[in-house]
Amino acid sequence: MATVGIESSAHTFGVGVVEDGRVLANVKSMYRISDRGLIPMKVADFHQKHAGAVIRRALKEAGVERVEAVGYTMGPGLGPCLRVGQLSAIVLSRITGAPLYPVNHAAAHVEITRHIYGLRDPLVLYVSGGNSQILGLEDKPQKHYHVYGETFDVGVGNMLDSFARAAKLKPAWGSSVARLAEGGRYIAMPYTVKGMDFTFTGLLTNAMKLLKSGEKRDVAFSLQETAFSMLCEATERALLLTGKREVIASGGVAQSRRLRDMLGVMAKSHGRKFYVAPDEFNSDNGAMIALVAEKMHTAVGMKPKIKGSDYGIKQRYRIEDFMIRWG
Ligand code: MG
Repeated sequence: MATVGIESSAHTFGVGVVEDGRVLANVKSMYRISDRGLIPMKVADFHQKHAGAVIRRALKEAGVERVEAVGYTMGPGLGPCLRVGQLSAIVLSRITGAPLYPVNHAAAHVEITRHIYGLRDPLVLYVSGGNSQILGLEDKPQKHYHVYGETFDVGVGNMLDSFARAAKLKPAWGSSVARLAEGGRYIAMPYTVKGMDFTFTGLLTNAMKLLKSGEKRDVAFSLQETAFSMLCEATERALLLTGKREVIASGGVAQSRRLRDMLGVMAKSHGRKFYVAPDEFNSDNGAMIALVAEKMHTAVGMKPKIKGSDYGIKQRYRIEDFMIRWG
């Protein structure tokens, strides 16, 4: 018996199927971002058009006979996009009679990484388009991810996207900034870390200004180095403060090879291990939602209501409000 997970918080409509912690299928269809960025209603239309086909493909690929539970991304994310995933999950839950589980998107990225490597209590750098947070499990009052530090303004991914658009690069922007940065020279840029928190807009404004006069390659290189160094410094501080033994990076920007290198060096210098999941689970995907839904379903004490309409969406769903009821 399998659990199905539906992800639709941003430009990806993903459906994953897991059984006993094993991923049987992880199918997605991705909205192609135009130069103007992401218009929520248009993305939602795209998701609505593809939802049925992606669900069917995932179920076929997994080859499962019965669905035991259905999970979906409750938030955080874009309202219209979340709504399509939620309604798809409700329909699937009603058709199959399987209970429905609302999942926090950020926790799902972290949990699938923790699951793959069998880690009990890692320090987490969660970096995506809209989010940049340093997280760790805490037991009180109930087990949840505590936020040790985070961005005071934009997420590092959206910051890099804004720069890439201004520099007239092609999507996917994160990787096009990385490509442009290759072989660049360092120019000093605003570097803002306050304890374990940080801000990116000053840095972005500075980089945008330099784009007009400076060498594009050098600006991209310096922007990326500065932003990632800030993340590393804040993560290092949290690591030493918490005394945790392992570090993981998760979320879309965790696919950056440069960021991984920097975090790896930092962790190693303190005798800590660094882990990152395969790219398939750091970009948005349904498998991570299915995995967490399965854990919720199996965990003692979870009694979900079968009526799908009892669960909604939360555009600003904070990770600390999502309880981790398993080991
Ligand atoms: Mg994500």
